Order: sequence, then structure tokens, then C-alpha cells
Amino acid sequence: MRLVVKFGGTSLATPKHIRSVAKFIQTISKKNQVVMVCSAINDTTDELLDISESIKKENRALSDSILAKLTKQHKQIGKDTITNSVIRKHLFEKLDADLEELKGLIHGMVLLGEVTPQSLDYLISFGERLSVEIVSHAILDLKSKSVALTGKEAGIVTDSNFGQSKPLMDTTRLRVSTNLEPLLSKKFIPVIGGFAGADQHGHITTFGRGGSDYTATIIASCIKADEVWLMSDVDGLMSADPKMVKNARVIPEVSYVEAMEMALFGAKQIHPRSFEPLLSKKIPMRIRSTFNVNNTGTLVTANPDEKTNKTVKCVSVIRHNGLIDMRGGSMVGAPGTAATIFTTLAKAGINIMMISQSPSESSISIVVKKNDLDKAVNTLEMELLGKMIKKIDVTTDVSIIALIGSGMRGTIGVASRVFSSVAKKRSNVMMIAQGSSELNLAFVVKDSDCASAVQALHDEFKLASQS
Ligand code: ASP
Ligand code: MG
Repeated sequence: MRLVVKFGGTSLATPKHIRSVAKFIQTISKKNQVVMVCSAINDTTDELLDISESIKKENRALSDSILAKLTKQHKQIGKDTITNSVIRKHLFEKLDADLEELKGLIHGMVLLGEVTPQSLDYLISFGERLSVEIVSHAILDLKSKSVALTGKEAGIVTDSNFGQSKPLMDTTRLRVSTNLEPLLSKKFIPVIGGFAGADQHGHITTFGRGGSDYTATIIASCIKADEVWLMSDVDGLMSADPKMVKNARVIPEVSYVEAMEMALFGAKQIHPRSFEPLLSKKIPMRIRSTFNVNNTGTLVTANPDEKTNKTVKCVSVIRHNGLIDMRGGSMVGAPGTAATIFTTLAKAGINIMMISQSPSESSISIVVKKNDLDKAVNTLEMELLGKMIKKIDVTTDVSIIALIGSGMRGTIGVASRVFSSVAKKRSNVMMIAQGSSELNLAFVVKDSDCASAVQALHDEFKLASQS
């Protein structure tokens, strides 16, 4: 098989981790053609973002000290990962060159005293530049052939939407296959940095946080891989958060649309665009654990096996949100009410997670993250209260509970089962939303009611059992 295997940052956290990942890749490369995609080691990307914050605050000392820490950490990991002294020397030459470039970039940004979207992408792409060198040399250390490539070097070409770029697939397909095919036929294991590519002018761009998943699926589509594996510290997509539901279990198979829905709800964070490149060629994705390689994880395909179909496949939760309820007689029958509310909030940079409007049109409820709540309420009060909106009610500390599963579509009685099991727990449902796709049924309860409601639903739909 031809495989693209992506490892997240926690899978590469220590020299021991990196050596075992290299060994795993070497083993599977005996029977398969393998391309590896890596995230930055641990929370390197967060630290690079901290550097950008310190540059904005003109705190040169802080950016220097974070850089010193990153430098020391990567060199130490490199030193402790590689046993062969020649390979280690070669790795250090690469790391030194990258770190020198990073230092120069930070210096330039400090002198300018500004962080632009373009310079920020260049800066935060360094985590993956460093990690792929170490991982690729770890494979060389095991006497397999390997080469490290950045997303740009691999041939990923994107638009110039810094921070949220998208690949230009036709160009990317051509360049990636031209670059990778000869390596694969010579039995090299390419190790590609996730998260970043470059626009048509050669400027580094990134796909947004968690973007290494996206890199993996883009590469998979370009080289017509048979499967793409996302390896992280979880066993797969789970029927519920195991921290909340003791008998939660790995879901064996889901469809792309179900997985997309689950990714958005954060059961396991997957970059939401990651599925797009897989759709046309129907390339299956496996979500697996680095630390439990005997577990086959969750398989994501276009058409999951009938046997694995269920009405509901998982109960996911987003905790710690705020609910805002807006009322007013003048909202009734007035076109543009919703648009005004949403535009006002969008201008204030507030993301709305859930919306519902009563058919009388006299009230609209929205849910926002707790961190955004004060700002959202202030904005609405300043701009719209007393005009379009007569009254604003706020409930802090609410959770969104969502049931996901394409088997809900057209199945009668799902809502009744859901709400009667929640009612039995004496939990009050404050707001409900279901898209007409019927793939996702979401409702809002108080944070304090959330755990018992989730357990009740997990039991009601028998999500702990195999069939
Ligand atoms: N290193 C990037 C991040 O932390 C990309 C990734 O991990 O997928 O967001
Ligand atoms: Mg990361």
C-alpha cells in the first residue's frame, strides 16, 4: 500500500518518542511505500506565537529568551535522539542553519516592531522545519533512507491568505507528485513538515492551527495514497469524552461527513478542511494512537460498513459557553434582523457557535464561548439594545451537547428518546438546534447538568456496546 502517516506534536515530544516513531515507520515501510508528515514538537507552535506576542509588546528580552529555550530544547532532543556521530553532526548543521534563519527573522521583526500576517506565518512555520530534520535523521540513524522536506519544498502551493491558506490543488498535485514519486521509487521515506506551504510568490503560508492534518490529506490526494493515517495521543474518535463517560469507546467506522461533524465538535481535534482532499478519490483515513499501535483506531470512509451503522455514533460536548437570548417586538417580520445581529458580532470578532430563532421571530438565541461572552453582550447592548432589541438575557456556564450520526436521518423518535432521557436526569434543556441534514442534533444545558445528561444519552443509545 501507499500510505501517508502523520504524527502530531505529542507523538514527538521526547527523544524516546521520536525513536519509536522512526522505528514504527521503518517497520511499515518494509511492506508499504510511506510518506511521513510531522507537526512541530510538542507546543513549539505556541511558543513561536508567544514570540510574536512579545515582539508586538516590544519585549525583546522575552522573545530572546523564548528563542533561546527553543534552540536549547531542539538541540538537546537532536543530540539525545541520534546515536551515529556522523548523522548527528549532519543534523546539527541543518538545525543550526534553520535556527540562524529564525534568529534573523525575529531580529528583523523586532527592528520593524510589527507582526504582519505574512511574517507571522513565516515565523510559526519553523516548528515543523525543525521537527522534520530531527525525525528524518532519526530514520537515517536506523539505516533507512530518508529526506526532510518543508511543505514548500514538497510542492504545496497555496493562495496568499496568510494564516488560513488553501492549496491550489492543480499546481500542488503536479509539483508534489513530481517531487515525491522519484523519492518513493528509490525507497526514500520523505518526512514532510505539516501546517505550511508557500504561495505563488514563494512566501510561506500556513493552514491555521492543527493544519498538519490538512497537509497529510493534501499529500495523500496528490500521490494517490491508499490510506492516510493520523497518529496522535488518542485511540481514535470516541463515542464520548472518556474523561466524562467511563465506558466511552473507540468508534470503529464513520463516514467523512460524520467525522467532519465530530471534528468540528472537538471530540478529537482534526483540522476541519482535512477531509476535502480525500473526497473525490475516496481515500480512507485512519485515526490511530501512536502509543497503542495494535489498536486499529477509527476508519473514516465514504461509505462505512453497514454493520457499523448506528442511529447515533457519538455524544460530544462543548463546555463553558454563554447563552444570549435577545427579544423584541420589532424583530418580528423585520428582514435583516438576524443579519444585523450577526454582522455586529462579527465586526467585534465574536464567533457564534449555535443559533436558534423562534418561528414567531420575537426571539433569537445564540451561544458563544465564555471568553467572548462579556464582549458580545457589551457590543449588543451598545449597538442594538433599545433599538432593534428590547431585552437581552444572559446565562453563563452552559454546555452544548451534540449527538452525531447519519443514522438519525429519517429515523422517527430520536428527539423523543434524547429529550426524555435528559428529562429523567432532571436537566433543563435551554435551546435546541438541528440542521436539516439531521446529522447532528444539538442542545444546550447548564454546565452542572452536562455530565449526567451525556452519560444518560450514552446509555440510551447503547454507545458502549460493540454492536
Ligand atoms: N504545529 C501546528 C499547530 O500546533 C500544526 C499542527 O500541529 O497540526 O497548530
Ligand atoms: Mg501542534
